[in-house]
Amino acid sequence: MTSHPRHRALGWGRHQLAIPGPSVMPDRVLAAMATPMPNIYAGDLVEVSNRCLERLPPIARTDGHVFVTVGNGHGGWQMALANTLSRGDTVLVAESGRFAAAWGQMAAIGGLEIETLPGTDRDPVDPDALRDRLAADTGGRIRAVLAVQTDTASSVRNDVAALRAALDDAGHDALLMIDCIASMGCDPYEMDAWGVDVTVAASQKGLMTPPGLAFVWAGPKAMAAHESAELRDGYTDWTSRINSQAHYQLYAGTPPVSHLYALHEALELIAEEGGLDAVWERHRVHAEAVWAAVDAWGSDGGRLTPNIAEPAQRSWAVTTVRCEGVDPDEIRARAEGLGLTLGLGIAAGGGPFGTSGTFRIGHMGHLNPPMLLGALATLDAVLGGMGVAEAGVGIAAASASLAAHLSSD
Ligand SMILES: *Cc1c(COP(=O)(O)O)cnc(C)c1O
Repeated sequence: MTSHPRHRALGWGRHQLAIPGPSVMPDRVLAAMATPMPNIYAGDLVEVSNRCLERLPPIARTDGHVFVTVGNGHGGWQMALANTLSRGDTVLVAESGRFAAAWGQMAAIGGLEIETLPGTDRDPVDPDALRDRLAADTGGRIRAVLAVQTDTASSVRNDVAALRAALDDAGHDALLMIDCIASMGCDPYEMDAWGVDVTVAASQKGLMTPPGLAFVWAGPKAMAAHESAELRDGYTDWTSRINSQAHYQLYAGTPPVSHLYALHEALELIAEEGGLDAVWERHRVHAEAVWAAVDAWGSDGGRLTPNIAEPAQRSWAVTTVRCEGVDPDEIRARAEGLGLTLGLGIAAGGGPFGTSGTFRIGHMGHLNPPMLLGALATLDAVLGGMGVAEAGVGIAAASASLAAHLSSD
C-alpha cells in the first residue's frame, strides 16, 4: 500500500502503529533487546529466564505448566497439537472468524482429522451448537476442541467459560484448547477457573515483546494426554523440556536470549501497572473509547459500523470496522500518509465480509490515552477529509467516553 500523496507531507513525526499485532513495543522492552549476549549456562540469563517462567503461569491464571518456544503463534499452535494428539485423531474446530480455521488447517497437515463447527464473520461460537455437536459424538472420536478467545479478523470475543460448559453439558472429555494469541494480556482470561486444558499465546500482541516467542500453558489433563501423544517431535516435546538437566534444554537449545530479556521487562511492566486486572481494565476503557468513535462515525448514514454488534462479544484488543460504500483501503492509505498504520481488513471464515470491506484498529498492549486518542483523532480527520463523517464527531465521542471513566474515579 502506498501512502496517499496529499497526506504524505504531514506524516513525519513518530510513526504510530495501530494494528492487531505486532503491537507498539515499550521503549524499555526494546532497550532490553539490546542487552549484550550473556553466558547461557549460568548467571543473569538463567535468573531472567527463571523469573519469566515463574511469572508466566499467572499471566494465563493457571497453576499448570508453561512452555516457551522460539516461534510465532503458529509455532505455539503446533506445539499444542504435537504434544497432546496422535495421527488420525479427530479435532473439532469451533469457528468464529478466521483463526480457529487456520489452526485446524495446520492440524490437518499434521495428520489429524478435522471436523468443523461452522461460524460466521460476526458472531462468537454458539455454545449450544457446540454442546449438541459434542453430544452427538457418542463414540468419543473428537479428542480436542480448538477455538480462539479473540478472533483477530472479526474482533469477536468468545465466552470461553460457556465453551467449557458446553463440553461439560455434553459429558464430553475432549481437550479444550484455546488460542489467546490476540487476547492474552488484553481480554480477561482465567485458564484454570474456566477449565481450559491448553492455552496458546505469542509474544508480540498484548504481551508487548517482539515477535519470536510462543507460549503454551498445559493443565493436568493435557499433561496426561501428552503421555500417549504420538505426534510428539524432538523439538517441541514437553517431556524433554520438563526433564531438562541443563537450563538451555528448557528451550531445546540456545535460549532466545534477547527475547527473554525483553519479555522479562514486559512482565515487569505488567507488575508495575498493578497486575493483570489493571491491564485488563485499561484495555476495557480504551476499547470503549474506540467503540464510541466508531458508533459516532456510523451515525447519520451508517457508513462505518463495528463488525460485532453486541459490545459484550467484542474484544478489548482489536476492533474490526465495517465500511459500507467507502473503501477501507483508501482510509488506511490516507491514515498511513499521516503517520498512522491501521490494520488491514482480513476475510473471515474463508469468505469476504459480505458486501462491505473492513479495516481494523489495534488497541492492544502498550497503549495510553494520548496514543489512542491521537490515533482516533487522526482517523477522524481522515474520515472528515473524505466526507465519510463530520470531522470531530468520532474524537468527541471517544473523549467523552474516556471522560466518563475519569469522572467515575
Ligand atoms: C496473530 C494471531 C495468530 C497468528 O500468530 P502468528 O504469530 O502470526 O503466528 C493466531 N491466532 C490469533 C487469534 C492471532 O491474533
